[in-house]
Amino acid sequence: MSTKAYGTHAADKALEPIDIERRQPGPKDVRIEIAYCGICHSDLHQARSEWAGTLYPCVPGHEIVGRVTAKGPDVTKFEVGDTVGVGCMVDSCGHCHSCVSGHEQYCDEGFVGTYNGKTEDAPGHTLGGYAQHIVVTEDFVLDIKHPGDQLAAVAPLLCAGITTYSPLRHWNTGPGKKVGIVGIGGLGHMGVKLARALGARTVAFTTTESKREAALSLGAHEVVISRDPSAMAAHRNSFDLIVNTVSAPHDLDQFTTLLKSGGSLTLVGLPENPHPAPAYSELIFKRKAIAGSLIGGIAETQEMLDFCADKGIVADIEMIPVQKVNEAFDRMEASDVKYRFVIDNSTL
Ligand code: NAP
Ligand code: ZN
Repeated sequence: MSTKAYGTHAADKALEPIDIERRQPGPKDVRIEIAYCGICHSDLHQARSEWAGTLYPCVPGHEIVGRVTAKGPDVTKFEVGDTVGVGCMVDSCGHCHSCVSGHEQYCDEGFVGTYNGKTEDAPGHTLGGYAQHIVVTEDFVLDIKHPGDQLAAVAPLLCAGITTYSPLRHWNTGPGKKVGIVGIGGLGHMGVKLARALGARTVAFTTTESKREAALSLGAHEVVISRDPSAMAAHRNSFDLIVNTVSAPHDLDQFTTLLKSGGSLTLVGLPENPHPAPAYSELIFKRKAIAGSLIGGIAETQEMLDFCADKGIVADIEMIPVQKVNEAFDRMEASDVKYRFVIDNSTL
């Protein structure tokens, strides 16, 4: 089935209209008409080949929401007309330790990404959500319970939401814990909302003074400008967890020093180039950890969506027609978005 999409043919080329093929739904597949797709910084990293190995043409997009328009005969979880989501994964091996324990994102064979993943479908790699339709095996499709008029603002939960929810849950965020969120962009603004909703004392770290008021209204108890050494020093040895979403290399010691002993600085930002090496004495002498975390498993993504539906949590978005996607990439790179661009896929 031919589908209109937006993608790029090379790292240094703008995204443009492109026609792609989607497979006919197999027995366990659902076809989804995509209503909205969020724009993640990973889309920009991938389209511009800032990480090694981008396959072209590249159609980004892994914050997908829409409606089921067709299903294979063995699909049991969804009906035509259901409102659903697809995040960063569309398949995994299903039998390794990680998959069996519900952490498909850590699949030993590597999960199949919603874009740039290996597939038998043409052109041999997966193509993402900047498109009219997508076909996905039902096990990687999420059920959306939010009211229909919130659908566009639900899209970013499929990556930005789960990528911050998963480490917050893994490191037991809740009442009595002090949690920092670094970088108030797409991921970070969800991290602030979720840490607060989970009951933690929530501190937002930003380099952008103009985000101070906004970060407070997102739910932060306190906002610290990370370029201000005395404001940083006031929080030394006090955090249980700091989730770092920054998309560029920077000094990690400024955050490990803020952890209490036993605390973790969890990296989720994936910059093009490495961070400067952190000082290991800070880690050894106070048993602090630098950890990483990747999106979240399918069951945990459903848990996060249900938690957000229950608490009325959605992303703060700026909706754009697909024709503005290149401008949106440039503005995202300049940290000029509050806080997530979402494509109205009907403009395709
Ligand atoms: P984003 O919306 O562009 O936000 C990134 C934020 O980082 C910016 O808003 C800015 O926050 C801060 N920042 C940017 N450049 C900086 C610099 N030079 N120094 C200090 N702070 C800087 O990006 P996003 O979509 O949230 O994604 C963030 C990163 O996470 C990307 O690298 C993305 O690829 C990665 N990611 C990882 C996963 C995962 O599973 N681990 C999933 C999705 C995305 P302030 O203005 O507040 O300082
Ligand atoms: Zn993403």
